[in-house]
Amino acid sequence: MQKKYAVGIDLGGTNLRVALVSRDGEIIKKIKVATTEEVLNSLSDAVDSFFSDEVAGIGIGVAGLISREEGKVLTSPNLHVIEKIDLVNEIKEKFRVPVLIENDANAAAFGEMWVGSGRKFSSFVLFTLGTGIGGGIIYRRKLLNIPAEIGHMSINADGEKCPCGNSGCLESYASGRAILSGAVSSLEKGRESLLKEYSAGNIYKLTAEDVYKAALDGDTFARELLKNAGRYLGIGFANVINIMSPEAIVLSGGLVGAWDIYVQEAIREASRRAFRELYDKVKIVPSVLMDDAGITGSAGLIFHST
Ligand code: ADP
Ligand code: MG
Ligand code: ZN
Repeated sequence: MQKKYAVGIDLGGTNLRVALVSRDGEIIKKIKVATTEEVLNSLSDAVDSFFSDEVAGIGIGVAGLISREEGKVLTSPNLHVIEKIDLVNEIKEKFRVPVLIENDANAAAFGEMWVGSGRKFSSFVLFTLGTGIGGGIIYRRKLLNIPAEIGHMSINADGEKCPCGNSGCLESYASGRAILSGAVSSLEKGRESLLKEYSAGNIYKLTAEDVYKAALDGDTFARELLKNAGRYLGIGFANVINIMSPEAIVLSGGLVGAWDIYVQEAIREASRRAFRELYDKVKIVPSVLMDDAGITGSAGLIFHST
């Protein structure tokens, strides 16, 4: 008898999501907790609470550069703590089922192709817009087995040094973390903004979501931050469109919540920069699975590989 479920994990710089997923891609139950230094413990506790004889395996999507062969994360700029952990072996030893590791955005792309917006596209590029920026590429209904580190394309030759080794990476200008660091450095210099009130005295506790809320409440500084980040994201879109001419760019991750300001600006910028013929062919759409893309895809990879 085939086992009914797989556990899918999406481990990001801000959030850890774990779900029990059925063979038709339905989420039976899920939890979300904050990512902490104790990540292996929280991950293993979460899996434990969902585990049964009906679990065929555990798929782990992680933000960072991964090695499938070694079963671990090689480098993760937004989640350094994970680099030291023998991830697949630790989890396999505990649960004694097949365990696989994939890049979080690759897993999300697989999830979207399987049961999300990607069902209707043969080839598309998925962006995860969260703490950092990730990418996954589906080409002719196959997940490309490549890093697709879209967040680390350089868009500014003399830009900020990135932990990946490059400078001026897209993620340093257009991610949740980038929006926040822009907010904090201006607030530190005394910039007036509603964000000061939102932070209740501690600007270091602000989130990108607070920036979006402040923008909706009419704060011009917050709106500027989002539009500026969106403009850089649009440069990333234009590069991807010009290089690959995908049928679609599918967007997932927390920052999709700021669509009307941030993504709209990105779309405008991309339309100004990409080859007209290629821009006219691409659809830029939100993921259907949204926050569930990663957990669904990580579980789906188990069903499709075991
Ligand atoms: P990760 O995968 O890196 O853990 P997520 O995809 O879960 O990140 O997204 C979390 C990020 O999205 C946080 O920076 C959060 O503040 C931000 N976020 C969530 N909702 C919104 C919103 N409506 N507008 C802007 N940012 C948002
Ligand atoms: Mg994520
Ligand atoms: Zn980088």
